[in-house]
Amino acid sequence: MKQYTHAWLSFMAIKRLEKAEMTPSDRVYAKKLVRWFKDHNDDVVQGAWYPDAVVKDMANSHVLKIKPSSRGKERFRSLPSTYECRKYRAMSPVKNKSFSVDEHDNLPERCESIAHSIIDHLKMQCCENKGSPVSPTNNQIALSLFMLSHYVADAHVPFHCDARKLGRLHTCMEKKWDDIINYHYDFDTENKRFLIYEDGYPRTKEFGEGIKERYRAAYLKDIDDGLPKRKFVTSWGNKNGNVREFACAICQHSYLLSYCLLPIRCGHRRKTMKYLETSDDLSFDACSTAVLSDAIDSIARVWFRVWRHFLKWKSKRKGKSPRTKKKKSAKTVKERRTKKRKRRLKRGSKGREVLKK
Ligand SMILES: [Zn+2]
Repeated sequence: MKQYTHAWLSFMAIKRLEKAEMTPSDRVYAKKLVRWFKDHNDDVVQGAWYPDAVVKDMANSHVLKIKPSSRGKERFRSLPSTYECRKYRAMSPVKNKSFSVDEHDNLPERCESIAHSIIDHLKMQCCENKGSPVSPTNNQIALSLFMLSHYVADAHVPFHCDARKLGRLHTCMEKKWDDIINYHYDFDTENKRFLIYEDGYPRTKEFGEGIKERYRAAYLKDIDDGLPKRKFVTSWGNKNGNVREFACAICQHSYLLSYCLLPIRCGHRRKTMKYLETSDDLSFDACSTAVLSDAIDSIARVWFRVWRHFLKWKSKRKGKSPRTKKKKSAKTVKERRTKKRKRRLKRGSKGREVLKK
């Protein structure tokens, strides 16, 4: 994926966390993350692009190349039932075939390590005094969150998880996504920023009727309409216990999706975007809706779980959870009121006693 697609996915993940229905206790955690993000969203375009622009570990850490192999011992993992890409799992020609993973690739491990380092940095920041030279800054933590968003999104790109040589088609597909975002959203190109609405989310261009029609026909509209209806599930999916296993499951589904786009029987050499856009197997638009909306959901889930992990640790350290704190304070108010009432009654009865005397 390219720069603006990555930044847009980060914004949409926060929107997802702000709008999704959650349990009251999860809402407390999500609210804090959304508020925190909105204070640090100026650098998202740069931050979410940092792995490509500066770290440059694309060869092995942005991919998990998978191929059918009779000697492969890997097993397919599950994703939560709300995932769009699960719809295409059944139609993938390699769904029942054993497979192997390139041993040099480490995208799931990269996601796990960044998630851990964010939690570590938040804990360090919490324990250090303000101005301490060893305390990580909020900007460093924000950068790590945007970088994590980049690697999670990359796991959703079908061609990042397919060992076949698809370089040219891969570049064209990612350019298509960036072009449509550039086309529909307003940018401050000089400062490389999205122009945003008052609510903190990217502003769409002033559309004339013709362009509005094109937006309605584009998959961005399907994503806008579909995500609010999708249940927000916090789990990693059946038997996945951490970010690494969850990212493995995403990569495996991306591999299955890639073979839906380019089935073995059709071959993959010299295929063009025109082939993908007019294919009878899986249309490029349907694939884009699945990839981009699932990526938004995954980024939101990973961020949320990282943030919640830290806040639970913080509450434990203080000896109270945000919820129990609320309950406790309500109880204290109630106790105080009852004590006050009792005191008033006592005074009243004493008063009556005095009068009787
Ligand atoms: Zn990348």
